[in-house]
Amino acid sequence: MAFPITHPTFPEPPLGIDTLIHEFNHVLQYQKLGFANFFLRYANEHKNYGLSKSGFDRNIVYEYGPRNSVYATETLEGQSQMAGDYAKLLALNAASSLPQRQKLERRLHGSGIYGL
Ligand SMILES: [Zn+2]
Repeated sequence: MAFPITHPTFPEPPLGIDTLIHEFNHVLQYQKLGFANFFLRYANEHKNYGLSKSGFDRNIVYEYGPRNSVYATETLEGQSQMAGDYAKLLALNAASSLPQRQKLERRLHGSGIYGL
């Protein structure tokens, strides 16, 4: 019995690819850091970044844009957001988003994501 090897297909526009890649990036982070180190870092980042003037906001760890950081220095959630956002921009392949894509490529440099 043979099983065909296929690539997953996504509807156009590729809804959800950013979420898929975001979560897959967490798997890679687990593998690299190990379970305990991942959760220790994750908890510390939420503690350190989550506090704002208006109280605790767990979404701040995701918002890499204003931090103007690169992948290597970003929070675990910020790294995964970068990877997901980049996957979405690649999949959409819109000329209008090329500057945004290039900016993200610079931030992802050295991450290994999509060979960057
Ligand atoms: Zn996440």
